[in-house]
This record gives sequence, structure tokens and C-alpha cells, in this order.
Amino acid sequence: MQTKYLHFNDADLQLAGKLIRDGQLVAFPTETVYGLGADAYNENAVKSTYLAKGRPSDNPLIVHIWNKSQIADVASYVSADARKVIDSLMPASLTVVLPKRKEISDCITAGLNTVAIRMPRSQQARDFLRYADRPVTAPSANISGRPSPTCWQRVAEDMDGKIAAVLCGDDCEVGIESTVLDLSGDSPVILRPGAVTPQQIQAVLGKPVNVITDPKSKVNSPGVRYKHYAPCVPMALDISGNAAKLCSYYDELVARGYRPVLLAADTQRFGGRNCCDIGSTDEQVAHALFENLRKLERQYDYIIASYTSDTPFAQSILNRLVRSAGGNVI
Ligand code: AMP
Ligand code: MG
Repeated sequence: MQTKYLHFNDADLQLAGKLIRDGQLVAFPTETVYGLGADAYNENAVKSTYLAKGRPSDNPLIVHIWNKSQIADVASYVSADARKVIDSLMPASLTVVLPKRKEISDCITAGLNTVAIRMPRSQQARDFLRYADRPVTAPSANISGRPSPTCWQRVAEDMDGKIAAVLCGDDCEVGIESTVLDLSGDSPVILRPGAVTPQQIQAVLGKPVNVITDPKSKVNSPGVRYKHYAPCVPMALDISGNAAKLCSYYDELVARGYRPVLLAADTQRFGGRNCCDIGSTDEQVAHALFENLRKLERQYDYIIASYTSDTPFAQSILNRLVRSAGGNVI
């Protein structure tokens, strides 16, 4: 298949919308990461998403909308808490899990009786979804397990020849995936941390929000079980920020024949060793994180990341880093 590279003008958006309605896959930008879009009402199109990504079929997809009125087409019930979150926080880098309508296919929800819904903040994402003229399922537009793409060139790297089109829009502002908030039960639970913090959700709901932190605990969100966000070279994560420790870990790797790189802040501390600045604010770190991993895996054969922030947003970044490193926290 010859993948088309489309742009944000009326003719290309018309074509992107038509491709979706014809059952094809179209990758598009959002503020979190690029998504791989399919018509949520077309089971074959949705199934082809799993094939293109190599995604396990028991990992459900998020349904994307551009208008809050579409929630009623997808969810069967919106609780008072869900209504508050929808009214106060959406559009945002936030996905809400609600009871599903029976029309929503099992291959979207992996057989669950709930459905994940997101209205992106990105204007480009919402323009595309408006032209698609129906709810669009979209996981991240990468091969399953790889770092998510935050610019269209990375989508091309993983998806060229496998999908009908890529909408070439802006680089993703946030850079990590949405917060997934389960509002289908008696109390709200964060299944996946993201840019929208528990504190922001608690402020809207006026009550505590549980956060599932252990992927092995009772898992309501199947996706958190899988290997994720991993570069194709080994990676270690340090959370102490101790420069002497990082340098000695690096030197040991060199002695064992590796060509490592330090992905950390204040890189002048590392005495000329190979390094890459991770960014100095949480926002900078998140924005560049997956792009840094994809860049460094080409140049080096071991990534040592160091990250020490303990803000609410940092917990989401740490979640991605721990998983990128396959749990190898040093
Ligand atoms: P991705 O599309 O790769 O960003 O992953 C989507 C995330 O949303 C995964 O962690 C899924 O497990 C989660 N998800 C999607 N649908 C549901 C659902 N109905 N209930 C719980 N989690 C869901
Ligand atoms: Mg993903």
C-alpha cells in the first residue's frame, strides 16, 4: 500500500475524512501523541488497527470525538461525577471510561462493558475528527511496544506502507499519552497517569481519586500490562540524580564494550561523557521524551536515563520511563 502524506488544508482533510469512512486507517496529530485512526462503526477497520500495530487484541482502544454531543453515541450512561469531569475538564489530555452503548463493538473494548472516550484539546485533531464525521478509534500510531510517535516523521518510520494516510500536522505539545480515568464504577480511579493530574480531577470532583500504580494489581485497564514505550536498545533508569553514581554506571558499561548515553538534566556534570539533555521542566521532559528515546537508540547501544522531579505531573513521566526501561531502575 502506498501511504499518502496529507496536510491541514480543506482538500486533504476532506480526503482524510473520506478514507476513514471508507474503512481505511489514517494517522493524525493530537496534543498527546499521534493516533492511528479508524471508523469506530466499522469492525473491519478497527480490526486492521490491531494488525497494523501488532497490538494484542485484548488491549482496548480509545474512541476519539470532537464534540461533547458525541458522548451519547458511545456511552450508555454518564454519572454525575462523569458529567462534572466532562463539563469542567474536556477537551483535554484525559480519557474517561464509561459504560458502553451496545452498538460499540467488542473489538474496540476487548469485550469489556465499558468504553474509553477522549476529546483531544488539539485543534488539528478535532478538525480531522470533524471531517471524519463519526467517532474514531485511535491507539498511538506506533508499532506496539515502541515509544509513541510525537511527530509525523516517526509515524512514517513505523507505519509507512501499512496505512492509507498520515496527516502531517504539528509536533505533539504534551508528548505523553492521556490520563485514563475510570468513571464507570462507584468511585473514580486513574488507570493510567497522564498530563491531567489526580489533583486536577480531585479539585473538580471534590473527593479523592484512587490511582492504580501497580500494573500487576487488579487490572481494569488491560493496556497497562504490556511492554511499552521501549527503545530498541537496553535502558536503565536512575531516580537519585547522583552524578557520581551515573558516571560510574556509565564507565562500567564502557568497560563492558557498550557505547552508552546519559539522558539527564545538567549535562555539564558528566565530564564529557556522551549525554543528551532530558529537559529542565516536567513539560519539556514529557514533550521530548519519546523523541529522545527514538533519536538515542540510533546513535548509542545503552540509554541511562535520570529523572528526579516529584511533582504530580512527574509521576506520569516516571510511569513511562520505568516502562521504557522495562523496570530496570538502578
Ligand atoms: P493507547 O491507545 O495505546 O494509548 O492505549 C489505550 C489505553 O486505554 C490502554 O491502557 C487501554 O487499556 C485503556 N483502555 C481503553 N479502553 C478501556 C476500557 N474500556 N477500560 C479500561 N481501560 C481502557
Ligand atoms: Mg500506545
